[in-house]
Amino acid sequence: MEDCIFCKIANKEIPAKLVYEGENVVGFRDINPQAPTHILVIPKKHYASLNELDDVSLMGELLNAVREITKKLEIQSYRTVINTGKDAGQEVFHIHIHILAGRDMKWPPG
Ligand code: 5GP
Ligand code: ZN
Repeated sequence: MEDCIFCKIANKEIPAKLVYEGENVVGFRDINPQAPTHILVIPKKHYASLNELDDVSLMGELLNAVREITKKLEIQSYRTVINTGKDAGQEVFHIHIHILAGRDMKWPPG
């Protein structure tokens, strides 16, 4: 999708620190990390949010990428977050799973 920053990252039109690339999914480091390790996992195809993601197989690929990335980086304890919609804190409208690790996490989240 035009003017989507994460589509541009997926298409290698703008640089990112990639940690994972599969056929349909990429993982890269967040530009403004909120924890010592902060990775974003996205589908290459544009879906604005979880509300639009209707591909169950791709959902599985996204979670499997989380598993592979954390395994590769030897991260055993981590938080995954999907912000859906403005009120939930979503700022980039291309669905992404946050992986946060390397510090104590609070519950409930803010
Ligand atoms: P959201 O608030 O939508 O759940 O999360 C968006 C995330 O994308 C934020 O953590 C933000 O730092 C990250 N982000 C925004 N623009 C870029 C970018 O151009 N490159 C990278 N690597 N991360 C970005
Ligand atoms: Zn996009």
